[in-house]
Amino acid sequence: MTDSQIRERVLAEVDALADELVQMTIDTVRIPSVNPTYPGIDQAAALGGETRVNEFCQPLMEAVGLETDLWEAEKGRANLAGKFSGAGGGRSLLFNGHVDVVPPGPDANWSKAGPWSGEVIDGKIWGRGSCDMKGGNAATLIALKAVLQAGLHPKGDVILEFVVGEEMMNTEAGTGAAIERGYTADAAIVAEASGPPHRLGIIPASPGLLYMALTVKGKAVHASMRDELIRAGGGGAAIGVSSIDKAQIVMDGLRQLEEEWGQTKSHPMFKRPGHFTIYPGLVQGGPNGPFVISEESRVEYAIWHPPQEPVEDVRAEVEAHIARVAATDSWLRDNPPKVEWLLWWPPFDVSPDEPICKALEAAYTGVFGTEAPYYGFAAVDDGAFLNRAGIPAITIGPGSLLVAHGPDEHVEIDDLIDAAKIYALAIVEWCGVAS
Ligand SMILES: [Zn+2]
Repeated sequence: MTDSQIRERVLAEVDALADELVQMTIDTVRIPSVNPTYPGIDQAAALGGETRVNEFCQPLMEAVGLETDLWEAEKGRANLAGKFSGAGGGRSLLFNGHVDVVPPGPDANWSKAGPWSGEVIDGKIWGRGSCDMKGGNAATLIALKAVLQAGLHPKGDVILEFVVGEEMMNTEAGTGAAIERGYTADAAIVAEASGPPHRLGIIPASPGLLYMALTVKGKAVHASMRDELIRAGGGGAAIGVSSIDKAQIVMDGLRQLEEEWGQTKSHPMFKRPGHFTIYPGLVQGGPNGPFVISEESRVEYAIWHPPQEPVEDVRAEVEAHIARVAATDSWLRDNPPKVEWLLWWPPFDVSPDEPICKALEAAYTGVFGTEAPYYGFAAVDDGAFLNRAGIPAITIGPGSLLVAHGPDEHVEIDDLIDAAKIYALAIVEWCGVAS
């Protein structure tokens, strides 16, 4: 067969498997699998959902001819890996996806169909996890099945892994555990949603994400003394200090730094200037209500930094800025805000010249007939941990972050089919095939 005959045959097989792809997505969406470490949920009740999804998927993988491995790195949370042994002489390819999802929020917010319904309306599959990312997982399995049904045998190994714990960076239970168990390859594709800005574009880079907590002290006193604290001629800090007022000073300073980052922080894969931000997503103060001057405030930040910047530099820059702001206020000078770094999700930054990018470009063009768009991932994903383990990992997948994590999450069926086509051609391009 010529290359174009191979391509036509593989694409036709994906089309023939479209119903199966849709059904696997629906069936897995119908199995609730909220990440059991997610804050604010009944964690004991959520435990086991991830395992149930993977128990459901294991026989589907085996039916395609994969040798499977269902194992727990953390109690009650089973990962699933499947390996198809190559004929030899080709490069190996790993497909990574996660089975955990974020909580669906109140049912009343779902306007089209319930969060665990998996209903098909208007050419879309609705439900939590449809886009992020049970649809992507299904597309990887259908892609391999299509290649095999086309009568082709990949020369390199093809490995699929459906892992737990991505949504809360429990990598030691999920992707990190899979790497430790020996699931590595010459390159990896993470089937997370590519949108926005494009459908199914190639994503070789992601930001790093820091989670920071800021604690600012005040001094409690009866709230009727407020005027003494803020008016000229009052007793001031000798009487009391509102931690909320002082936290506001630091927050204003960080807001200014965020503005500055809009101009100063960039990366070639992030075309719009200003992707890198400092967001205070949780603000607490006045623990005893409005009749006591607040004695402690806590602000939690998500800080998105450019992939090429060492995390130590980013932390130092933020800390130095907070110190500069604190130096402008006599109370904050004597009672410096406490900074805690709670978490760091590392970035990834793969060169578009990497061979896996070239293989994906060819696959994309084979499906759409146009040149593949490249851009950075708005969010973070498990590609970071694969890249850190030395496996060049690219994100490309069906759906859009605009609908992931929100109510009315859905995925376009056309996106699923086109994703499976790209994955199938990527297997052909990357692993090579024997017929
Ligand atoms: Zn995801």
